[in-house]
Amino acid sequence: MTRDELKTMLESRDVTFRRVAIDEVVMSFPVHSDLFFSAFHTDDESAMEMANAARQWMPVLRDGYNDAMTKFESPGKYAVFSNLAESYSVFIKEMYKDIASLDGNTAQRTKDLLWYNFPGLRTELKGVANQQKQDRRRQLMVFVTGKCNMHCPYCFSMELQKSSISKTDMMRVLSWAQRNKVQSLLPCGGEPLMYENIDWLIQETERLGIKMYFATNLSVRMPDMMLNGKSNSIEQLHVHITNELFNDERLMSTFRNNLRLCRENGTDIILRGNIFADDSENHYDEWFKIAKDADINALNVAFTIPSHKGINSFVHFDLIRAMIPRLRRILEQGRENNIRVSIAKPLPLCLFPEDMALDILRHNHNASFCNVNEDDGMHNLSLSTDLRFSPCLGVDEPSVPFSDELGWDTLRDIFSKAIGALQSQTLLEHCDSCFLYHRRLCQGACLSYKQPRRNGGVPCGN
Ligand code: SF4
Ligand code: SF4
Repeated sequence: MTRDELKTMLESRDVTFRRVAIDEVVMSFPVHSDLFFSAFHTDDESAMEMANAARQWMPVLRDGYNDAMTKFESPGKYAVFSNLAESYSVFIKEMYKDIASLDGNTAQRTKDLLWYNFPGLRTELKGVANQQKQDRRRQLMVFVTGKCNMHCPYCFSMELQKSSISKTDMMRVLSWAQRNKVQSLLPCGGEPLMYENIDWLIQETERLGIKMYFATNLSVRMPDMMLNGKSNSIEQLHVHITNELFNDERLMSTFRNNLRLCRENGTDIILRGNIFADDSENHYDEWFKIAKDADINALNVAFTIPSHKGINSFVHFDLIRAMIPRLRRILEQGRENNIRVSIAKPLPLCLFPEDMALDILRHNHNASFCNVNEDDGMHNLSLSTDLRFSPCLGVDEPSVPFSDELGWDTLRDIFSKAIGALQSQTLLEHCDSCFLYHRRLCQGACLSYKQPRRNGGVPCGN
């Protein structure tokens, strides 16, 4: 494609033509950097289209814990992921060149659009762009019950007490949530559908205008509100496909029936498969069959994380290299079946072959850095069955007892510091020379691996 053809296609009214041209510009950025930046000079829509493509191909621009991000130094400083450092260095040079060539107003507008579209660039643009605060939807995860009908060896909640939050306490929690402008409630467990008051909880959240989404094994009787499709508050279900299903026809039949009903009711569903330390009898092929039968095109997979005491069958780092072929096969099967496979928990990408690491980074938002820091460290606020707040299901320290008077801002002041410290902490010896670490694009793993109290005081990652 000649440069003139490329320009014509970029200006085309045909979306497909534009998309092809944008991909070409992004993939050969050093050659077409001027066309890339011109999308950010005037028009919000072309900026958005270009940014969407760029975030896929240059994940460096996309994520990052930008408040703590260190300023980019010479690419030679980085021994791990040095190629990414090189291409980022070219990007920054071209960006400054472009901005310097613009008049005052256009330059400011370009900087603002870049700041808005690329969180990964914000350290570079600090002080030069008008920083807009992006509001996050406030959410609260509540461990409503420790009960479950399954016995998964990898379960994160393995040591949770089998008790439930009483209806009276749950009413206090809902009032608290409403006072503190919580917009989404995530019941968690155990199996949340086994919560004695689940029908009531769905009705109450609906009455209060609070939305819900949650993870479930979907193999128990569904609450009436879900059976008859009358719930407007449930926005999405993350349905776990557990190994036990494949050894028990009755469970599998309940699961398939519930899945069919949810699909018929129009519930948005993402399937979830867990890869754990001893899953020699895995059922990865069946995951895809279930997805295809139910016409679901999204599968979320995770290497399982350590439970509170680290006694579940979680994937230790020593095991990751050996497990890479399994993940590679799952990603290939996703492509073969046209099912989007995403990674649910951050992975130490340096342990993967570079081509695979880059592929994972490009196509997965949370592949190496989770979103627990969003909303000033409150994005994954959790409340345990014994009514204690913690920053996330994977980070249960510090914890603060629930009280009606406690305010969102008080919790935020405590938890944002804890989350920031854990996300900044290096995980492996060579993190300090890694480009992804310095751009805060990799935190190594789920923060549950870094908690010092686990395994009698030793973090599970070491
Ligand atoms: S930050 Fe650390 S764990 Fe992540 S890829 Fe770099 S070296 Fe590996
Ligand atoms: S800390 Fe772990 S459990 Fe929490 S959001 Fe990050 S990856 Fe998920």
